[in-house]
Amino acid sequence: MHITRPPLLYPLFAETTSLDGIGARLAGLLEKRIEGRHVMDLLRHLPVGLIDRRARPAIPMARDGQIAVFELRITKHDMPPAKTRRPARIYAENETGEIELVYFHARTDYLSRLLPVGGTRLISGRVEHFNGRVQMMHPDFVLPLDKAGEMPEIEPVYPLTAGINSKVLRRAIVSGLTKLPARDKCPEWIDKGLMATRDWPDFTSASAQVHHPERASDLEPTALARQRLAYDELLANQLALVLLREATRKIEEGAALPLTGRLKTRLIENLPFALTHAQSRTIEEIETDLSADVRMLRLLQGDVGSGKTMVALIAMLHVAEAGGQAALLAPTEILARQHHRSLNKMLAPLGMSCGLLLGAQKAAERREKEAQLANGEIQMVVGTHALITERIAFADLRLALIDEQHRFGVRQRLMLSEKGKAVDMLVMTATPIPRTLAMTAYGDLQSSALDEKPAGRQPIETAVLHHDKIAAIIDRLRQVIATGQRAYWICPLVEESEKLDVAAAEDRFAHLQKLLPEVAVRLAHGKMKPEEREAAMADFANGTAQLLVATTVIEVGVDVPEAGIIIIEHADRFGLAQLHQLRGRVGRGTTKSSCLLLHDGQLSETARQRLSIMRQTNDGFLIAEEDLKLRGPGEVLGQRQSGLSQFKLADLSAHADLIAIARRQAQKIAREHPHLAGAEAEAYRLLLSLFEKDSAVKFLASG
Ligand code: ADP
Ligand code: MG
Repeated sequence: MHITRPPLLYPLFAETTSLDGIGARLAGLLEKRIEGRHVMDLLRHLPVGLIDRRARPAIPMARDGQIAVFELRITKHDMPPAKTRRPARIYAENETGEIELVYFHARTDYLSRLLPVGGTRLISGRVEHFNGRVQMMHPDFVLPLDKAGEMPEIEPVYPLTAGINSKVLRRAIVSGLTKLPARDKCPEWIDKGLMATRDWPDFTSASAQVHHPERASDLEPTALARQRLAYDELLANQLALVLLREATRKIEEGAALPLTGRLKTRLIENLPFALTHAQSRTIEEIETDLSADVRMLRLLQGDVGSGKTMVALIAMLHVAEAGGQAALLAPTEILARQHHRSLNKMLAPLGMSCGLLLGAQKAAERREKEAQLANGEIQMVVGTHALITERIAFADLRLALIDEQHRFGVRQRLMLSEKGKAVDMLVMTATPIPRTLAMTAYGDLQSSALDEKPAGRQPIETAVLHHDKIAAIIDRLRQVIATGQRAYWICPLVEESEKLDVAAAEDRFAHLQKLLPEVAVRLAHGKMKPEEREAAMADFANGTAQLLVATTVIEVGVDVPEAGIIIIEHADRFGLAQLHQLRGRVGRGTTKSSCLLLHDGQLSETARQRLSIMRQTNDGFLIAEEDLKLRGPGEVLGQRQSGLSQFKLADLSAHADLIAIARRQAQKIAREHPHLAGAEAEAYRLLLSLFEKDSAVKFLASG
């Protein structure tokens, strides 16, 4: 299917430079703020507040801090002598009283022209009471009476960015609103009954209304215009997902993979432990999907340490046994290498192995791997983003597994699945996704939960400590290491400056080496050569070293069961999900572990709450819920650019009820208008091109 942009909407897809007052430079600044270059992107940038200029009180009655408008006669100037810091004062009055207009650092000749003695002006700004006098500092508007119309009665307030002031932005938006299609030209895509029961305005009116708020409640997500646009966004999203499914269903024939279970049985016989009930149940669910001729799209949620890798391997073996290929995509090289290592350890007794593909590999080595993937010699492979680059081709990719899915977007997932036909997909995550988010990221995806930890695991004891206790903390560290356990020391990553972090981690490393001469210490951070970092981590994993000082490079997945304590510096700088991930590096063996969260006392309210939640619970699902409350859904999945939180108008908490409704309408649309073909489906094509222009539709258009 191909979706072309309908001419009706061309003006909305014009570059923002087509708007009044926006040149190339401003368009560049705007692009960062509104995450796009088009008029439509600007129209989706909604006001967060408003300034109401309708109040015209009597001067003595105006409240301190109130925004007010007065028609004033200028009575007297009190200009400061040149080069003094004293402000200019301009006295003015109306029939209700007197007011002083105060200007700092203003040019007196300019003020004399703007506010001539004897003249009358319409003036608006914030009223202040000072020493019993009424003042206004730097009024926002000073207009001759014949230009009174230039002052907006209500001024929306937008999130701004350096270099763009509110007047410029407002002018651009007003100009952008003229590009909307005429109300009667734009066909309605929302279900008629829903429009009526909800009392929603049409798209064009709603788009204009959200930029002309009249009262505070118009800024709430529950305002009708905002609800409508949120629904548009959700409907487009759900429609794209439904169509995507439809497009992939066509090519599903013959995807059933028969299973004998021979390899699985041998694998399990060779494990040093028994599978947990949750693992067995999940494996059964996956096998049922793989053996059937429907395409699997399954989310595997399991808290850190619940044994997801094991489940992944059994799924991979299933596919290999049936003669297909399976690929496991990991977010970082460290994690890919570790998966590769642990999978091969488990595969060795079977006389099998899996391949590894990384961006950093030598060209010759990579070419060899690529050839083996293309001819089917490699049946199981682990890799990073390198796996989804264009040059990689598979002989017969049947199963794509994605680890720590919050690091990847819809796009990457699709890119991998497009490397084969009817590729089954298993998405693994330790960060539980609230149902509403899962719906918008995947549509109707099945989910399995590893809701049980392997037997014998001890809860991790968590303490929150002030940094000035560091001497005592190092003592504790010494004791723990003396009992034969290993330890992590995590230094935070400040995004703005990786250099500074690395310096901090290096300092801490030197410091700990000096204080703990009996301990072998290693350092791992993102700026090291991969081989050196790997060597440091390997020393720690095999026990040559007992203490690993690291930045968050170890955040996900690193598995060293002997690690019994983790110390996290500046824990207040981390998000909840990240802290939980980091803490999950310990408590993987059978001895009791601990986690020390350090801070320097300057805690924001949310940071305080985060640390307190960490102290109270080890339950990843609970932590994810609290995370949602503290951060709002947009951020839960981490990077916005991941494509999973692509919504600008929909608020997944406030509009949660709309998701299911949008889903139902999307399914109905897809049933009635397969592939959105035909003139009757024009409205839906419009909707998609407006709200899904960057994501799934691209894949539809190419597929
Ligand atoms: P995660 O779910 O965090 O990816 P892993 O798959 O890395 O967890 O497993 C964590 C550790 O638990 C590994 O050392 C793994 O070998 C071990 N493990 C997995 N399943 C079991 C089990 N059923 N019993 C005991 N240990 C297990
Ligand atoms: Mg894992």
